[in-house]
Amino acid sequence: MALNLIMLGAPGAGKGTQADRVAAQYGIPKISTGDMLREAVKAGTEIGLRAKAVMDAGQLVSDEIMIGIVKERLDRDDVKAGFILDGFPRTVAQAKSLDGLMDGRDPLAIIDIRVPEDELVRRLTGRVICQNCGQNAEGVSVAQMATTVCTKCGGPLKQRADDTEAVVRDRLTVYARNTQPLVDFYQSRPTFRSIDGAQSFEQVTAAMKQALTDVQSVAGASR
Ligand code: AMP
Repeated sequence: MALNLIMLGAPGAGKGTQADRVAAQYGIPKISTGDMLREAVKAGTEIGLRAKAVMDAGQLVSDEIMIGIVKERLDRDDVKAGFILDGFPRTVAQAKSLDGLMDGRDPLAIIDIRVPEDELVRRLTGRVICQNCGQNAEGVSVAQMATTVCTKCGGPLKQRADDTEAVVRDRLTVYARNTQPLVDFYQSRPTFRSIDGAQSFEQVTAAMKQALTDVQSVAGASR
């Protein structure tokens, strides 16, 4: 059956990194709405122009735009064997629309990665990414980024414009207000699992693997 996975968790919880691993392991696409928006900004499309200021301020792009983007993406053939959504849904309205888009597909698996706020701030304000491919430069500090390149594509490194401390605090407030309620929305489902994202990377990866095995067996049994 298809693995139709949503990753919940605050900015900096490690959703994107874990989503990359699961995508490679299962051979299914990772759909990061943040990456899609950043590409739209770079390409100067109408959506990009509308989203840029909102993103720079750490606020949420409108549900209407986001649902439109995701609907179009989930209409493509490459999601038939499954997909991983990273950064969507971020509001209860988006979650309800997503349920509508899931009609006739295998059930959603939901994994929530939890990390305490202080640790999130520390991670985000120290985060360095590739200017070309967007991959996190693990282990590279802000002080080292000018003299280091991306291990994946050799591109130059930078900090994300919204990873400054002030914007990070705003993003975490936005998360607590709009996105945390999603945990209540989903947690009574048998395919929901929460994992501790403050553990070591290997431990989080192991917990993810266990959670995926669990939710897939529950989803398979309920078909
Ligand atoms: P991310 O890379 O997931 O942290 O997303 C970066 C920014 O893109 C967010 O701070 C929002 O401004 C915007 N964004 C990404 N996904 C969504 C979404 N599902 N709903 C609203 N805004 C989003």
